This record gives sequence, C-alpha cells and structure tokens, in this order.
Amino acid sequence: MGKELKNAGLATKAIHAGEGPDPVSGASAPALQMSSTFVTDQVAGFSAHDLEEEAPYLYGRWANPNVRALETKISVMEGTEDCVCLASGMAAATAIFLTFLSAGDHVIVSDVSYAGVAELARDTLPRMGIEVTTVDMSDLPAVSAAIRSNTRLIHTETPVNPIGRLSDLKAISEIARNAGALLSCDATFASPLGQSSRELGVDLIMHSVTKYIGGHGDAIGGAVAGRRELIEKMRNESAIHHGSIMSPFNAWIIARGMATLPLRMKAHEAGATAVAQWLETREAVTKVIYPGLKSHPQYELAQRQMKNMSGMITFQVGDRATGEAFAQQMIDKLKIIHYAVSLGHHRSLIFWMGTDALMETSFRLEGENMQSYRDYAGEGVFRLSIGLEDPEDLIADLAQII
Ligand SMILES: *Cc1c(COP(=O)(O)O)cnc(C)c1O
Repeated sequence: MGKELKNAGLATKAIHAGEGPDPVSGASAPALQMSSTFVTDQVAGFSAHDLEEEAPYLYGRWANPNVRALETKISVMEGTEDCVCLASGMAAATAIFLTFLSAGDHVIVSDVSYAGVAELARDTLPRMGIEVTTVDMSDLPAVSAAIRSNTRLIHTETPVNPIGRLSDLKAISEIARNAGALLSCDATFASPLGQSSRELGVDLIMHSVTKYIGGHGDAIGGAVAGRRELIEKMRNESAIHHGSIMSPFNAWIIARGMATLPLRMKAHEAGATAVAQWLETREAVTKVIYPGLKSHPQYELAQRQMKNMSGMITFQVGDRATGEAFAQQMIDKLKIIHYAVSLGHHRSLIFWMGTDALMETSFRLEGENMQSYRDYAGEGVFRLSIGLEDPEDLIADLAQII
C-alpha cells in the first residue's frame, strides 16, 4: 500500500504504507521473506539496467519484499517518489557520494557531520579524484563562495551530529539549484517528522535508520529517499553493483519499529524539552544546545524549519578534565541512561564527545570554522539522546551526578 495513502495523516502512513494483509494467508502482520532467489518465468537473465518499477522479484540483491516494504514506508513518509534502503547509514552516505560523483567533480560537505561521513569525505573521496571542500553550512555566504564550475553535490546534515547546529535547507537548496548541483541532507537527527526535507528542496534525503526510524537499537540500516530517477541510479550502483543491501530481517524489524515513529517523536520531543529545561537550571552545566530552547543560537531557524525538535540534546560542563570526570561518574552511577554511542532509541543514551579528539580524528577544523564549532561545543559535549522513559526518571538519574 502506498499511493492510496497520499492524503492520510503521518501516523496512518507510518503504520500502513508498504504493507497490507497477506494475499495468501490473510495474515495481518507482514511475513518475513528471507529467500535469496525467486522462481521466475523469464527465460533470459537480467542486468541491473533492465529493472523496471513493477519488475518481479528475481534475486535478493536486486529487491526483496521486506526491503521494498520499508522503502515504500520511508518514501511515503518523506513524500518522495522512491527510496533505497541499504546496509547502514554509512552505506547510504557512500552510495550518495559514489553514485553522483566521479573523478574531477567537486563536492561541498558540511565541515561538521557524523564522524564516519567526515572521514569518508576527507580521506576516501580525494583518493578517488574527487575534490572536496568542507564548509560551515550555517554560514550561507561561505556555501555560495565554495561553489565551483564542477560542483555536482552539496552534502549537509541538520541538526548536525554531534553539536546540534542547523543548516537552512531552503537557502542551501537555492544555492545548489543555481549551481546545477544536487543537495543531499543527512536528516538522521530530525527523522522524517522533524522537517519537510523534500519541500525545502533537498534532492536526496538520507537517514541512518539505525536511529529514530528503527527506534529500538536492534538493527543497523540506512536509507536515501528522493526522485525515482536518482534513486534508481543509486540502487543500480550501490545495491546491485556494490552489494550494500539491507538484510530482509533488518528491513522487517525496522519497518515494525517505524510504525510508531510519529508517536515516538512526539514523546522524544516532550522528554527532551523537559530534560533540556532542567539542565539549564543546573549549576554544573555551562551550556545546553537544544533546538526547542530559546537559547539555541538558531532558534528562529528552528522555529521556521523544524516541525519536531527531536530528542537530541548536547550540553557542556566546562573544560575537558571536568567533562571526562563527569563522564566517569556517569559510567559508574547511571542506572537508567546507558553510557553508549548511538541515538534515537527508546532507551536513553549519553556519551562524552571531546572537542580535541574529534578535531584530530574527524573534523580537523581551523580558524573561523573551529571558532563556530567551539561556540557550540566548547571543549566537549555530552550528547544525550532522550529515549521514551518518564522524563522525571531521567532527571533523577542525571541529578545523582550533575
Ligand atoms: C549514526 C549516524 C550515521 C551512520 O549510520 P550507521 O547506521 O551507524 O552506519 C550517519 N549520520 C548520522 C547523523 C548518524 O547519527
């Protein structure tokens, strides 16, 4: 089910898009289809280039019913023509870069991004002959100034991991359009509920579905939603040729998680608002960054662009030694919140992200870019992913320490 839900609300879409009662058994819940191959009445073999929209299933690397169901769910939620699901969020980012960039092309990448993407852009792409410029995406004149005649792609992320800085998608999409470049956005922190990425002009909407979309911390996957012509290119390159496919089991469990995404996002936002407001009252806390708070440096943009503020908070406690000491206390004392990386799960997660370490390994910023990072993150932040527990329990857990 997909097209007939066009006018339904997001909660209905999240539950019903991509699935329906099993035509054979009448089962109400989707079956898991692990078969790697499908019996066919086609005499000849297929190449990736022969695949059509309604082509029958042939081989699990080309398409699978459970993966297709999740792709439909995500594209219906994002309001795009199509979606491709891949093995991980990093597989999705790699697919964007390697499908739309060739040797001699230029790409502009957010100077702060998910660390894996930052390292892929700085270390791997130049090895392939791709020119990379990293830019503070909250600085629109800097984005414009970075455009070259061979710029094919602008890749941003909003809110950006780990510091919660926003980029103005509408303005950046205009810059991309004028330059004849595509705009891709890693919308993992926002989820499909956080912003209308397609309406704001994003061509390729990327998610690590490991996070909010799956929502339960039990399956890794990635997705890119957009126009059919773009998604088909990515499917040919990254799924069929590079082999970065999502397993049917992961698609099945992530689709089940996604059914409750709209409800969960409301609860994540409510919980994060309560905890962020409480954090602002604590003496040990020197700064809180949450797009729903008036104190966010881009509060006006958040109000304009975001429909749900999500559950991601970052906060500072002072210098590096203080941060690391608090981190150690969290490891020792937290009873509910897990001290762990990742985010977007029903369980709350917290992790210390020191600025010096991130600069060395991932971001390598200098000058004004470094200053902008420090304005948000100081010497380091706690990245706190608010889960679905009662906010007062999360506050009590943190109050043992801060
Ligand atoms: C986690 C994450 C990724 C990478 O996703 P994986 O599923 O872990 O490969 C990419 N971008 C953002 C913003 C993330 O949080």
